[in-house]
Amino acid sequence: MEQNQNNGPKNDGPKNKQSLLVILLCIMVSLVMFNVLGRMTRGVSSEVPYSQFIEMLEKGEVDRVVMKGETLTVTLKKQQKMGTPATLYTTLMEDASELVKRLEKAGVEDFNREKPNAATEVLYTILSLVLPVLLMFFLLSMLYKRMSKNGGMMGGVGKSKAKAYVQKETGITFKDVAGQDEAKESLQEVVDFLHNPGKYTTIGAKLPKGALLVGPPGTGKTLLAKAVAGEAHVPFFSLSGSDFVEMFVGVGASRVRDLFEEAKKNAPCIIFIDEVDAIGKSRDARYGGNDEREQTLNQLLAEMDGFDTSKGLLILAATNRPEVLDPALLRPGRFDRRVIVDRPDLKGRVNILKVHAKNVALDESVDLEGIALATSGAVGSDLANMINEAAILAVKNGRQAVSQKDLLEAVEVVLVGKEKKDRILSQEERKIVSYHEVGHALVSALQKDSEPVQKITIVPRTMGALGYVMHVPEEEKFLNTKKELEAMLVGYLGGRAAEELVFDTVTTGAANDIEQATKVARAMITQYGMSDRFGLMGLSETQNQYLDGRAVLNCGDATATEIDHEVMKLLKKSYDEAKRLLSENRDVMDKIAEFLIQKETITGKEFMKIFHEAKGIEEPKAQEKPVELEASETPEIPENPVVE
Ligand code: ADP
Repeated sequence: MEQNQNNGPKNDGPKNKQSLLVILLCIMVSLVMFNVLGRMTRGVSSEVPYSQFIEMLEKGEVDRVVMKGETLTVTLKKQQKMGTPATLYTTLMEDASELVKRLEKAGVEDFNREKPNAATEVLYTILSLVLPVLLMFFLLSMLYKRMSKNGGMMGGVGKSKAKAYVQKETGITFKDVAGQDEAKESLQEVVDFLHNPGKYTTIGAKLPKGALLVGPPGTGKTLLAKAVAGEAHVPFFSLSGSDFVEMFVGVGASRVRDLFEEAKKNAPCIIFIDEVDAIGKSRDARYGGNDEREQTLNQLLAEMDGFDTSKGLLILAATNRPEVLDPALLRPGRFDRRVIVDRPDLKGRVNILKVHAKNVALDESVDLEGIALATSGAVGSDLANMINEAAILAVKNGRQAVSQKDLLEAVEVVLVGKEKKDRILSQEERKIVSYHEVGHALVSALQKDSEPVQKITIVPRTMGALGYVMHVPEEEKFLNTKKELEAMLVGYLGGRAAEELVFDTVTTGAANDIEQATKVARAMITQYGMSDRFGLMGLSETQNQYLDGRAVLNCGDATATEIDHEVMKLLKKSYDEAKRLLSENRDVMDKIAEFLIQKETITGKEFMKIFHEAKGIEEPKAQEKPVELEASETPEIPENPVVE
């Protein structure tokens, strides 16, 4: 997700520290004041220990003693030293009768016993309590005022953060968004609403309040929202759902209120809430309740009901988890339009590549269609990234323009990481990895008799692959037959089968293949109705369709056990088939693997040449598109292949 321009004031750490310091200072000042005040009201300037008073008494320095409660005010005959006052005070530490005896003995005749003055005591108590509190209050209110002016700590809590993200003109138009034609078409109407609200209101048509953009991450939802704003030439308020939710209950709601107020002032404009599921989660207890989030959501619902669309205020929101959203949010009158922004198809990918290649110097070898074919399943942000990587590669190699080779290399960099040059595989490991990869490719070739791969390589990659097979389908496929899926399973398990056949042992390298194969086998049985045992019964549901698309079983425990057995049976059958195919063509496998061990990389063409030679088949003459190769049995390139 692209971050919008300048971020809001988030660095309130030092400010918090500052305010804490000020509060501490206030407390200290109050305490000191309390002490000083105490002394002032007593009218005594110096306190001495009782023992010192006794000493002075015995030395005959005391002239007069006044006793008030426990406090003795002592007047000395003469000032003792410079700076020591002639009047002291001390606290009586013995019985009053004992003191009287001592005074008599020392010849002090002037001894008074005053009753404590009730009025002064009360005044003293009031002043010593109230004054510090007043002072604290005054200082704190000053502090509070200053911070609210700065939008800092407490004062800024309820304020919408949208201001920080407002963009007067996004400068992005629909031309910058490629491959989302349906989404653009739906949003085009919205742009028209913003342009000419009158046209619709005169007929009596109500303007839509909001549109929800739904799709996997990186497909261009934010970009589309910006393009709508750009096309309509209106300001664009952008913020993320998580910006609303705070620790304090009620803050999110107040931010929503503030955001709408601000937006209404700027109408016509667009409010864009990214990741709206952060606040819009269903309020039922299934996903866990949260007071703050619910209040924020309620406020959002209320605001969406409350505003007048004729002013040209439009709310766009994006999510990749529409299924968790509260139904109230989706009902007509709120987000009444749902715009699907799905993964781009082949044409879409070509267009996205073109948009991003616009400002990049390309040489004549570049065939963006070939790249689009090799990147089935990639989203817009992946493709943008690939073009950029290719440009960087070209610069690194000291060339003036990007070539097809750079682009293909960039595809690999984005999908499987960079080449890991420092990882040196041992001779034995290179052999195992080579046979493993050739196993995959050969199984595919034997099943279809066509070039199965674009290339096979055993150069380790940073994302963990020790080697991999790069497939480039001839055309994009949207459906797979049962036969194709079965062939796909055999292909996945071809690597492990080759290891077992050649080395009579197996390695950890097949972990990813096993995972993928199990996923396909399970889907065939529980989702696609392709097993004889369960027939057409739907046994699992897809969750988070736009994220990982995980399938969750929807059946009893006993059935789940049976499903596991079925999956196991299917995988075993596929594995046996892979072993059969490879053992019948052991000589071909050896030849290709030998080539791969030597050269580290083998292209689809070289592969087929060896394949045809070994099988004694005449090489088909001219091939129209040598780069775009067969192997449609893998419609999507595995996300993180370890060793395929
Ligand atoms: P999302 O909001 O769906 O997660 P973004 O809109 O933030 O994705 O897309 C991220 C980046 O990917 C964009 O800035 C843009 O460069 C690129 N991109 C994604 N989809 C497209 C598209 N359809 N056309 C052109 N560029 C795209």
